[in-house]
Amino acid sequence: MSAAYDLLVTDARLADGSPVALGIRDGRYAHVGATAPEGARAARTIDAGGGLVTESFVNGHMHLEKVHTLDRAGDGALAAYTSGNMGAALRSIVREASQVKRQYDRDWLEPNIRRALDAAVAHGVLHIQAFVDVDTTARLVGMEAVLAVREEYRDLLDLQVVAFPQDGLLRDPGAAELCEEALRMGADVVGGIPWIEMTDAEAQAHVSWACRLAAEQGRRVAMLVDDAGDPGLRTTQMLAESMLEHGLEGRGVACHARALATYPQPTLQRLMDLSQAAGLGFVSDPHTGPLHLPVREFLEDGIPVALGQDDIEDAYYPFGRHSMLEVAFLAAHTLRFLTGADQRLLLDMITTRAADVLGVPDHAIGEGNPANLCIHPDGRLRDVLTEHARPRWVIREGRVVAESETTTRLQR
Ligand SMILES: [Zn+2]
Repeated sequence: MSAAYDLLVTDARLADGSPVALGIRDGRYAHVGATAPEGARAARTIDAGGGLVTESFVNGHMHLEKVHTLDRAGDGALAAYTSGNMGAALRSIVREASQVKRQYDRDWLEPNIRRALDAAVAHGVLHIQAFVDVDTTARLVGMEAVLAVREEYRDLLDLQVVAFPQDGLLRDPGAAELCEEALRMGADVVGGIPWIEMTDAEAQAHVSWACRLAAEQGRRVAMLVDDAGDPGLRTTQMLAESMLEHGLEGRGVACHARALATYPQPTLQRLMDLSQAAGLGFVSDPHTGPLHLPVREFLEDGIPVALGQDDIEDAYYPFGRHSMLEVAFLAAHTLRFLTGADQRLLLDMITTRAADVLGVPDHAIGEGNPANLCIHPDGRLRDVLTEHARPRWVIREGRVVAESETTTRLQR
């Protein structure tokens, strides 16, 4: 009997240029080969027309409840944050963000979150690590909104929700208890932002609290670390050490970590070795700030690095449409990742390597793995990055969840 599939994708290309046909059954790849098996039948067949097929995209770091709040925060917040003066930026974050957070209301938060998730699905982003502020100003309102919307979107994408004490733990007494409550409500990951505490001892206490809680509850940790151009910041190291101490190898993510760009080489090398030992993954968002993690060195050392959208139209970044291809395109310029080999690395950092960072298993296109993929209008990776257009088809566990079409007719 000939092979029968739920969905068959024919005439597609892989990133290395080789032809591929995909047979999908029960949400997983049942056939990955240069051509479809002889006489294959399928409930639905998509002729990719020579288009590139990639894994679906992974957004390693996203402030999800803050999306589309720039008009509430005002341009002044953005001006202060991007002024280059990290001291002023920090104070502006506390002031402007608190002013917006005091207004948090599910009535306006949820439509904003839906808009950002609709954009994600349309752009083929099916896994997101979403940070949600949980502190004594936001309390649990943003978390309630994100968890409610996550439920609405459960058939479309996977949200890893991080209970994130944006204002610190020791700086903001009460935040730890609220984060623990957020985990009971349904948040997945223990968050942290140790570098904003007032002393190294307090930063250490912040990291230890998060890692101990994650270990006790069998969860992952994800933190914003060392997010300023200060070579004295050491909270990435604290996170890696604490993961080792609490048996959290391979279950931690460090976001931003921009201070590492200012470290002397021996210090950076020791930290890379320690990160390897701890199985610490990194997320960089080089389009949202002038300084960035030394991504190339980390990749060359074999440390998993993902890219993140970070922000969409908030006090930190005025643009963003939840397109990881757009983020990769911008990263190509900020990181100078321009050669063909570099383009493949960019693709990895928004697909398979990003999945490794987030602990998402079996994300690669391969028989037996979940069929989460995008079929692009162009056949070459270079063109797909140049255009950073919406995929023609987005497929989640074998089901088409978005179809896009763009046509232009020149008038002569
Ligand atoms: Zn961030």
